[in-house]
Amino acid sequence: MYANIIIDISHEKVDKTFQYRIPPALETQVQVGTQVEVPFGTGNRLHKGYVVGLTEQEEFDRDRIKEVAGIAAKSVTAESQLIQVAWWMKERYGSTMNQALKTVLPVKQKVKPKQVRCIRRLMTEEETRKAACEAAKKHYRARERLLMALTESEELPYHVAVSQMNLSAASLKPMVEKGLIALETETVVRGPRIQGDLSVRRFFLNEAQSRIAADFSERYDRGIRETSLICGVTGSGKTEVYMEMISHVLEKGKQVIVLIPEIALTYQTVMRFYRRFGGMVSIINSRMSAGERYDQLERAKSGEVRIMIGPRSALFTPFAQLGLIIIDEEHETAYKSETSPRYHARETAIYLAGMNQASVVLGSATPSLEAYSRALAGQYRLYRLSERAKQDSRMAQVHVIDLREELKAGNKSIFSRRLKEAVRERLEKKEQTMLFMNRRGYASFVSCRSCGEAIKCPHCDVTLTLHFGQKLVCHYCGYEVRSPDRCPSCGSPYIAGFGTGTQKIEEMTKKMFPQARVLRMDMDTTSKKDGHQEILSAFADGEADILIGTQMIVKGHDFPMVTLVGVLAADLSLYTSDFRCGERTFQLLTQAAGRAGRDKLAGEVLIQTYNPEHYSIKCAASQDYESFYRQEMVFRDMLGYPPSCQMLAVLASCRQEETLEKAMEDMNRWTQEISGCEEIRVIGPAQASVYKVNDIYRKILYLKHENCDILIRLKNHIEEKSRQAAWYGYVAVQYDFA
Ligand code: ADP
Ligand code: ZN
Ligand code: ZN
Repeated sequence: MYANIIIDISHEKVDKTFQYRIPPALETQVQVGTQVEVPFGTGNRLHKGYVVGLTEQEEFDRDRIKEVAGIAAKSVTAESQLIQVAWWMKERYGSTMNQALKTVLPVKQKVKPKQVRCIRRLMTEEETRKAACEAAKKHYRARERLLMALTESEELPYHVAVSQMNLSAASLKPMVEKGLIALETETVVRGPRIQGDLSVRRFFLNEAQSRIAADFSERYDRGIRETSLICGVTGSGKTEVYMEMISHVLEKGKQVIVLIPEIALTYQTVMRFYRRFGGMVSIINSRMSAGERYDQLERAKSGEVRIMIGPRSALFTPFAQLGLIIIDEEHETAYKSETSPRYHARETAIYLAGMNQASVVLGSATPSLEAYSRALAGQYRLYRLSERAKQDSRMAQVHVIDLREELKAGNKSIFSRRLKEAVRERLEKKEQTMLFMNRRGYASFVSCRSCGEAIKCPHCDVTLTLHFGQKLVCHYCGYEVRSPDRCPSCGSPYIAGFGTGTQKIEEMTKKMFPQARVLRMDMDTTSKKDGHQEILSAFADGEADILIGTQMIVKGHDFPMVTLVGVLAADLSLYTSDFRCGERTFQLLTQAAGRAGRDKLAGEVLIQTYNPEHYSIKCAASQDYESFYRQEMVFRDMLGYPPSCQMLAVLASCRQEETLEKAMEDMNRWTQEISGCEEIRVIGPAQASVYKVNDIYRKILYLKHENCDILIRLKNHIEEKSRQAAWYGYVAVQYDFA
């Protein structure tokens, strides 16, 4: 037996492995992830290294392979666990070990002397509150936010303030100069000074919330480790329940990972955790530099940080005593990686928890069908919260508006009569409106009125998207060109933009309501580093009456002054090629409805659609998850889609069409070989929904079976066979479990 070992466990060096022979005496102890001691370099001094692979195949001259000297004293570390996770991800989802290691290991940065920076207030709580009010009067929003946060806690970690509150160093300077706050830097390693008080609670949990928290704690104390799902309507107080669970697990000396989709990871959310747990909370997000992230992960490793909040990748926080993983908004698509290994955070969390004797808690108002069906089958423990937590907050009134009727009545505008009236009312009452377009990247394209051709990207199989009326952009490869004056196919001058993107809606809204102040949030307006947070803050601060946007605006934000949410065309997300489009539509509409009337003001939601009878729309309007679940499951059962059936997509891409074709034929044949005894259903090979991207052709083979393990076996079979194929190295193959 041989072990492949990495000596320098840093992100960039993971592909540098060295092979060692495992002496028979150690064979049972050496596993993937074990830390071992090996002779290394010319002097053969003993170095520590991690095993990342085991094989019977020697990779070079047998006589020159050195032997593993022994197992390191501390053979299982946080890193060795991450390496085991990487191995599992590689096997489970199909990728190389390198890709998997790069996913789980942090990018190592030169470690400066450790700096704990924080912002500290130099005033009393009362003075700070006054200063916040003054900042508010002068419309210094970021300053106001910081000062308000400082009324609740004397110190804030610098990175939390800057990355979540949209503060810049420049905006801090005047406050420092005036002696309101101090920036402190300490170079010594020290325990958290900012202590959260585990017992501090701003209110008592209501009965439903306490029952869940108590049940969880009682089972945890009995040593039961399991996965639970909290199915709770928006605003039912799930976050408060998580915090109660976290505090219980912390008392046991354990650590906690909290996953929140990046888009919902706002300053308000982070502050809630911070208020309760103080300096033992840290966050990572994609806007941080690699160095900042590395620092936070190191603090977690040292035990200084005990709760890590972040998106998908926060799962790989090197905690030595992991006790609980929480996944909020469990149904979010962002929990699945779009690059190899295409892992799902839910499954990976459950695996990681299993290794660590930890529990997993999932939460959502609209659980994924996967999670809910497992909960119903008893695989997960199911908890429900069916009412809003705040006494005076009610669910919004939802109405569905049939756009066909509008058309019959001669109204061709994007605003139905009722929506138009409702917006006008809000403007009069100085309340806020959100207009929501439930499809990402749905934007206008340019086509020819003479020949009907749409202008396409020369490298990809998609139409170009019109930006600001003159630039055409490919959303797949980034190709850009000035919008032409004549049709490239027939030369006709009669070409024009079509479709209604968010820009177009903004234009039309401004025309319809000239007095309204309008903000727009989409891919274009948020591409800047903090664009996303800036727009949300401006809207929360009342700087606009109407916020127009894509799905970004409906995720997890609390705007107390919003009393109207208009969904302009609910059908847009209903007819995409994805089998989950009904589920997505239901989730988006339910979330959009959850945005209205979060506070004392009553909320109204208007859903415009051409399909008022569709169950996704009807169930969202009546906020009836159960009914949606039952109807959608019928569809999944009938067509054999997950969770009824497991599905593996094999994506192959190549510059040469013929080579690609040959590869697909081979893979199809290998599938039949196994299929003979296992009855795997094969669909395709078919062209990918966008066949050509960046001059590379793409085809897909869909494989279905009830048992996921059989699909994993099939994936391994294809992987192995393709290594011997003539096209190996020319055709890139990726595996994607739906
Ligand atoms: P969810 O995570 O389910 O959307 P949250 O935990 O954000 O719900 O709670 C929604 C709102 O209700 C928040 O403003 C929260 O502070 C408040 N809240 C939660 N639990 C209670 C409670 N027991 N009593 C009063 N207010 C509560
Ligand atoms: Zn033409
Ligand atoms: Zn392109």
